[in-house]
Amino acid sequence: MNTNLTISLKITNWCNLNCAHCCERSDKNQPTNFMPLAKIDNYLSQSTQMFLHPDQLITIGGGEALAPYMMDNAKYIPSVLDLTYSYGYIPTIKTNGTWGNNDKLRKNILSDIASRAYKYSKLVTLDISVDEFHNNQDGVTKIIYDTLTTPEFCFAVRICLVGFNTEKSASAQQRLKQKLIQRGLDIHQTISGDWIIELPNGDGVYMYNDFNTPIFNQGRASDNKVFTSTSNPNGNDGFNCLQIDNKDYAIYNYTQREQINNRHLNEVLYSLMAHASAQR
Ligand code: SF4
Repeated sequence: MNTNLTISLKITNWCNLNCAHCCERSDKNQPTNFMPLAKIDNYLSQSTQMFLHPDQLITIGGGEALAPYMMDNAKYIPSVLDLTYSYGYIPTIKTNGTWGNNDKLRKNILSDIASRAYKYSKLVTLDISVDEFHNNQDGVTKIIYDTLTTPEFCFAVRICLVGFNTEKSASAQQRLKQKLIQRGLDIHQTISGDWIIELPNGDGVYMYNDFNTPIFNQGRASDNKVFTSTSNPNGNDGFNCLQIDNKDYAIYNYTQREQINNRHLNEVLYSLMAHASAQR
């Protein structure tokens, strides 16, 4: 029944940016309120009874998912990764990548996530926003360059660039490509739009580009939004998405929301699905 399900943990609504389109309505004025590790443990434990595939990607998002590093809470994300891997899942971290401008933060974050990937022998993915709304190109360039040219990062961290299916997102992607070329990377674009990046030592690295998502609404700018998140009744890439936020709400395919109220996630999911199909 739930075989095409993916789970997304919204660990905070705090973000160092304040993008005009933000579907999460995140900004610096939001409380950090990081989702307690015990809750993450509990949700992931329950999810193992929900027919998720082994090696299923679990999204760790926000707000800015790497915000704990900016709040001197450097142990939080490694602990979240430990939990995610220990339940047999593969973590995908969603980030705006602005931390790439801070040399110390960039080294610490990449070292931490690479060490967890090695420990569990499974790549960790960084989903980085590259589009018309994010002012982050310099930081993202440094993250990609360091990841690709540092062997201990290159074999542990997979980068996926995420934007919209708009001309402006395509331009942002091309601007980033030029910046990487200027730093000496040789980039070939595949038919599907992904990149194969040839490193100075001759090795090649595959980098995913996901620029197929339409803008479903104007996020922060939309007056009639009932709750945060992009309105996407189709879920993500053919997977139904169950998002769990740091205020104990569960959100199904970005359209239905219910308070969890100590119920098992499976019960919450079936209730959300029933409401969703009743509306069709
Ligand atoms: S769109 Fe992303 S980076 Fe921008 S304010 Fe929202 S959470 Fe932060």
